[in-house]
Amino acid sequence: MGKTTLDLDFALESGKMGTWDIDLRNDTVMCSREMLRIWNVSELEFQGNRSVLQAKVHPDDRPRMIDAINKAIHEQSVYELEYRIYPTPEEMRWVMSRGRCTFDPATGKALKFAGVVFDITESKLKEEALSQAIKARDQFFMIASHELKTPLACLNLQTEVFQWELKEKFSDVLNDEMIISGLRKQQEHLFRISRIVENILSASKLSDKRFTLQTEKVELNEMVHGILERFQVAAEAAKIEIRLDQSKKIHGEWDRYGLEQVILNLLMNAIKYGKDKPIKVNIGESAEHAFITVKDEGIGISENDQARIFERFERVQADNKINGLGLGLFISKSIVAAHDGEIRLKSELDKGSEFTVILPRN
Ligand code: ADP
Repeated sequence: MGKTTLDLDFALESGKMGTWDIDLRNDTVMCSREMLRIWNVSELEFQGNRSVLQAKVHPDDRPRMIDAINKAIHEQSVYELEYRIYPTPEEMRWVMSRGRCTFDPATGKALKFAGVVFDITESKLKEEALSQAIKARDQFFMIASHELKTPLACLNLQTEVFQWELKEKFSDVLNDEMIISGLRKQQEHLFRISRIVENILSASKLSDKRFTLQTEKVELNEMVHGILERFQVAAEAAKIEIRLDQSKKIHGEWDRYGLEQVILNLLMNAIKYGKDKPIKVNIGESAEHAFITVKDEGIGISENDQARIFERFERVQADNKINGLGLGLFISKSIVAAHDGEIRLKSELDKGSEFTVILPRN
């Protein structure tokens, strides 16, 4: 039924691409041989009848198809749609159709609607298999990190209680340097493992799109002090001084748990990559925003790497000298973006890095 030349037909077949051309004045269609082949319709069956092709479109996709065609005609825009067809009642295939309308320049009336169609079944199946595999992986991470969270929290608490009891009841024993430093090391390791588990859990929630903000009234100064208190173990173990340059109260409506995670991630990085030098934490505000800055004097990040380190699993150190999963900044950026905020980075190689979290007050 096609008006295409033999050579063009051959090219279209080789590219598994069909063409279609609807005359809107009499509702007849012309199709290339390849399109009829994809639909499994003979020229005899077809006879330029649009309904023969439409009958093979998946019933759930027909309304979408009609809407997309109408939209392209009314808005004079490109029509593009992926939908399912049944070449035979037993076999379903995915196609991608793209086209556009031509109009009468004098009256503006739609005359023809023409385009191309591809059989995309293979790539759709691969895509589906891949997304299933990713889902399974994320589910595994989510379950594993959930399972690890509770025993870790218990262990953490127990270590704290144990340390407190020793201090209260056996202060003479506690003078033993080995016991004190052993317990502190234990606490530090627990703290680090908890951060890793939290990050894996958040990353799987983010890819599962189950991440939602739970906002409440938060006072930033108090929150950062609380974090630094908890962080003290890790900081002391690394013999790093952390200075907080602010005593003003800064109020806002934010997700407390999410923000704590962001600040903890930035602090952990400042310790990891900070070459044991002092770390400065600053909080401040403007009329519409609050900000938190974490500044280190460590290894720094080159300009080329500054954008990519916020992506999932991206790390600058490929040599494993400093361990990490490459998730902390990705999660932090996502949490801050969910607040309509942003994280800015100023950094220079060998000079240090300054991460600033900017949050709208409401
Ligand atoms: P991780 O630290 O687990 O690798 P992150 O997502 O927290 O993952 O950070 C991504 C990468 O960004 C790190 O691997 C590191 O290369 C770089 N980076 C992050 N923070 C700093 C910092 N304060 N100084 C230098 N490099 C940093």
